[in-house]
Order: sequence, then C-alpha cells, then structure tokens
Amino acid sequence: MSQTIHHNKQDIIPQKSKGQNFLKNKHIINNIVDAANMTKQTAILEIGPGMGALTDEIIVKAGKVVVVEIDPKLVEFLEQKYHNHKNLKIIKADILKVDINELLAVEFDDFKVVNVISNLPYYITSPIIFKLLTSSNPKMKTLILMMQKEVGERILAQPNNKQYNNLSVVCQYYCDIKKVCLVGKNNFFPVPKVDSIVLAFTFNKKNLAIDNETKFLEFIRALFAYKRKTILNNFATITKDKTLATNVLNNLGYNLNLRAENLSLNDFYQIYQGWTTWQAK
Ligand code: SAM
Repeated sequence: MSQTIHHNKQDIIPQKSKGQNFLKNKHIINNIVDAANMTKQTAILEIGPGMGALTDEIIVKAGKVVVVEIDPKLVEFLEQKYHNHKNLKIIKADILKVDINELLAVEFDDFKVVNVISNLPYYITSPIIFKLLTSSNPKMKTLILMMQKEVGERILAQPNNKQYNNLSVVCQYYCDIKKVCLVGKNNFFPVPKVDSIVLAFTFNKKNLAIDNETKFLEFIRALFAYKRKTILNNFATITKDKTLATNVLNNLGYNLNLRAENLSLNDFYQIYQGWTTWQAK
C-alpha cells in the first residue's frame, strides 16, 4: 500500500526512521494547541513540525513561532506553505544539536515567555525531554509534548509503581506534569504501532539545595542502572566501596534491600547529600 502524501506538486513519503507520523485529527490538534494557553505575547518553539498540522493553528495564536525540522524535504515544503507568514521562522536542524539557550536568546529577545509544543519524534523522546529540562532557561514555562503512551505513563508514575524510573524522577524534579489527553494511533498517518499521550509540563523546579545538578542527575540514573539490583548494590557501583555505601544508607536509616523504584525524589536527595557529606569528611 502506498504511504505517499500527495500535496499540490510535491509528494511526501513519511520516513519511519525520522519518526514521521503526521496528525490528522483536528479535534486532537486543537486540544494540544489549546493546552499551551497562547496569546500574542507568547512565543512558541515547535520541534518537528512535519507538514504543519500543529503549526497551522500555532501561527494564528502565538506572537512568534520558531520551528525546528530535521528533514530537508519537509523544510522545503514548509517554506512554500508558509512563505507569507512573517511571525514564523523555519530552522533546518537536528534539535539535539541546537543550542536551546542561544536559540531562545536570538529568536525570542522580545518575549518573556517561550513555550514548547511538539508531537515528538518518538525515537528520541527522552533525549529531547532531557535537553529541554536541563537547559534551565528562565523564559521556558510550559512544554506540551506528545509521546508514546507508555513513556508518558512512566513520566507520570509515582514511587512503588513498576513504571517509575529515572525519567519519572528527573521530569518530576524539574516540572509539575499533567495529562492533557490520550491519542489513539488511528489519528496519525501513517498509523504507528502504538497509542500516544499528550502531557503538559510546567516548570517548577523542586527546592533542593544541590551543589552540582549534573552529578545529582547522574546519581539518580546510576541508582536505577540495574533494575533488579538493590539500591545498596547500585550505590556501591558508584562509590566503588560497598562499606561506604552501606554506612551512608545505614546512617540515614534506609533498608538496604530497597530498590530505586521505591525511592521518592526526596529520598534520592537525602542519599545524595549523605554521600557528598561523607566524601567531604
Ligand atoms: N508535528 C507534525 C504532526 O504532528 O503531524 C509531525 C510530527 S512527527 C511525529 C515528528 C517530526 O519530527 C517529523 O516531522 C520529523 O521529521 C521531525 N524530526 C525527527 N527527528 C528530528 C530531529 N532530530 N530534530 C528535529 N526534527 C526532527
């Protein structure tokens, strides 16, 4: 069966390797765009505009829109489609290689608030989310992101739930997260294998006195490294000293048989602080 989209003189063949599944349901498109609460004072960064399903609505509501698209054929298509839209800038780039803070400084100098909207390319969901969160740009307030349903459920998961993982803790450290809507796979062309979910991330970094954020995030990741291992064994891999790891956990009163999935953000913080204090001795 042909998977070609005939559009005026151009044919677009969606590429699986670039995560190209285009939204075709207007109702869903409106739900996503409405979640960003746009006014003419809002600037929007859209990642992966594709053929512009979301962009069509965003450009009429936002003050300025910058879209970043990796596929040169789609960029050419978008340039023709939107040639007379002065509030839209199309950037041909891999979002993972873009310096987000520089882009925001150059493109959105006149705006106090920049929100991000994306029907994410699913093969790089976590790296994109991680990049947006750690950019820590004060202008960035809300991210409206569509992703595979299972990934979204992990992000929303709480401790003691099998789905809770490193991504849940990191996202919940930076943001308050709410479900916007579920999106069945039949709302896309071509139809993907999985259903999707839209989440709204509102930046609200939890108030923890951390000396080195990168180190703290690496520490969380390391405690989740081997899911079947106890926190003691994962922690001992980082400290390279099981006695030290045992002492830190015992001092703080943690059961050595717990697993990372049992720990809250505050628990990760307590253990991290216990470890850095011990190191400083
Ligand atoms: N926004 C469109 C829609 O909802 O119909 C398309 C969404 S599609 C799931 C993902 C889009 O991201 C595709 O247009 C794809 O070419 C683009 N993309 C994939 N990898 C990318 C990357 N590294 N940087 C920027 N865009 C990327």
